Amino acid sequence: MPDNTEPTKPLEGGCTCRAVRYRLTSKPLFVNCCHCRWCQRETGASFALNAMIEADRVQLVQGQPEIVHTPSLSGIGQKIARCPTCRIALWSNYGGGGDLVRFVRVGTLDEPDRLPPDIHIFTASKQPWVVLAPDTPAVPEYYDRNVQWPKESLERRDALFAKKS
Ligand SMILES: [Zn+2]
Ligand SMILES: [Zn+2]
Repeated sequence: MPDNTEPTKPLEGGCTCRAVRYRLTSKPLFVNCCHCRWCQRETGASFALNAMIEADRVQLVQGQPEIVHTPSLSGIGQKIARCPTCRIALWSNYGGGGDLVRFVRVGTLDEPDRLPPDIHIFTASKQPWVVLAPDTPAVPEYYDRNVQWPKESLERRDALFAKKS
């Protein structure tokens, strides 16, 4: 079976006014589809689709996002990178991963179809009309990374945090 997860051309994206453009230099570690109320409010929709990736694998192609400190469900807060002009949110950094891991908003990619969710989280507050694919893992709240992530992604994450210390 062909490996559809490895992009043939780079994953690129940006904001609506095109002042900020970025490129992912590899596939992400994991893609979370979050159905928590916070993500619903922040997107104005039913869920957020976030591709987790090492910060140094997000290459700025154009412009410079502005960092907006925003409260988060965990209480630690998140830093949201937004276009300084149109204010579209491009990615977030959350408490646990610090600045090392970015949560790129999949909807800002030029080809968001290329990154479907690896897991659905916080389905306890999922809007009832959203029907999930039966073959994608789904959990009522959060999950144990060691159980859900592929080995390769866990190794990438270990390498990232080893560099830090
Ligand atoms: Zn913009
Ligand atoms: Zn959420």
